[in-house]
Amino acid sequence: MDKRVTRTLVSLSIITGMLAFTRFLWVYDIFASIVVGLVLDSAYRNRNKDSGEEVKYLLVLTTSSILTLFSYVTPFISLVNIPLATIPFLINMRAPSYVRSPKLATGMMLSSFVSFLALSWSFGYSLGSPPSPAFGIYPIYLFPLDIVSVVAGITGSSSFSVVFGAGLVSLVLLKMRETKKLGNRVRMGLMLLAYFVYSTYIPNYSPIASQVQYIPYMWFNGLGTYAGVETPLLIGILGTFVVTAVISYMFGSRQICSVTCTAPYMLQGNFMDSMKGFNRTSKLGRKTLTSKLSSWYKVAMWATWGSLLVAAVISYLNYLGITNFTILGSDPTMFYAAIYFNFLWYLQFIFMPYLGNYACVNHGICTWGSFNQLFGYLGPFKLKVKDPTTCLTCKTVDCAKACPVGLTDMRSSFIKKGEFKSFKCIGVGECIDECPHDNIFIYDIRKVIREKIVKEARTRE
Ligand code: SF4
Ligand code: SF4
Repeated sequence: MDKRVTRTLVSLSIITGMLAFTRFLWVYDIFASIVVGLVLDSAYRNRNKDSGEEVKYLLVLTTSSILTLFSYVTPFISLVNIPLATIPFLINMRAPSYVRSPKLATGMMLSSFVSFLALSWSFGYSLGSPPSPAFGIYPIYLFPLDIVSVVAGITGSSSFSVVFGAGLVSLVLLKMRETKKLGNRVRMGLMLLAYFVYSTYIPNYSPIASQVQYIPYMWFNGLGTYAGVETPLLIGILGTFVVTAVISYMFGSRQICSVTCTAPYMLQGNFMDSMKGFNRTSKLGRKTLTSKLSSWYKVAMWATWGSLLVAAVISYLNYLGITNFTILGSDPTMFYAAIYFNFLWYLQFIFMPYLGNYACVNHGICTWGSFNQLFGYLGPFKLKVKDPTTCLTCKTVDCAKACPVGLTDMRSSFIKKGEFKSFKCIGVGECIDECPHDNIFIYDIRKVIREKIVKEARTRE
């Protein structure tokens, strides 16, 4: 999309903020969110140029989104949108490319995230169900807790799934268009489908929305997704762990971390994906390169698992009436899931330029991820190369450069063993897409079965 179109769309979206005078503000919320996505898309396409255009667009869009919240107090506030809409045409801004400036990249992430939060709240409000704070509201001197509570309340809401999802869809579609391998495009298509159907529609809007907690595989963040640990929910909870462990064993943790978790949808779009360069340039990102687990990974993994299990036991004892322990009024497992998936996850998302891409995979802080990574590691899933000698003479090593997790040691493993197996490999498949010699392929249960069939056929001959 050319700059003039982006500029016009930004202004148009701000002008539609005037819908505050009507009852259709939710239309503006969706439209403005899509425009935020298009601006990020445009920033990605101009990533090699120094230009402040997209930064300017994001700032005016964020201001307009915040104004929307005040327009519920008085619709006249939305009149400010008129001068605001002229800014993209009147003011020139210069800034370095975001891929070379972690500060700017973080600022852009933060600005767009604030827009999505404001638009999501407005979307919910205009449809009669504004997201409520996750743990209530506290006196002013506890304002940091209020911020956590409000942010977690919004990001955990169905409005956020819809508005944020609409905003990021262009980033994923463009990335899909740039993806060469059909297998990777299919994976990304499944990821889109999973975001809108599995994580958004079924649990929030479908006829079975009130029943999902009883269904195995539906607890998409593991413990704490829908409720505490209760006897009638055990089939849903334990069934989810069993089913997901079996699928991860067969296909690797890619089934979660590259498809059904909402995280890949956010990280795999072109703008966010282009931040993987920070894996090599940021201090913390560099420390997590290669398959080696960082020293703090195991500590973080055991600490998060330990606290989640304690929370689960307390939650069940609460259900049995033996204890009555809640955290800020919430069930301990739900509190845990809300703090991690609805607050901390977004912090590491925004600070990706400092922490590196896929910090959730690299720092051991996601229990749901490490559970599936373990079963993926135990199973046959790995990357294999057709010819290890090609890797020996390879000059570009594009596979390792393309890996968003930062698994830079794959080439040496390909040369030595003809394969690469890593606890941290989540099967995104970008190495496969980028290898100029079309050398890499995924080896999982499908290949195991095929090999077995071929072997049996040969022995019969
Ligand atoms: S590590 Fe956790 S948050 Fe990250 S992609 Fe995997 S399941 Fe999702
Ligand atoms: S897999 Fe491809 S890109 Fe990677 S080292 Fe081998 S030939 Fe080079």
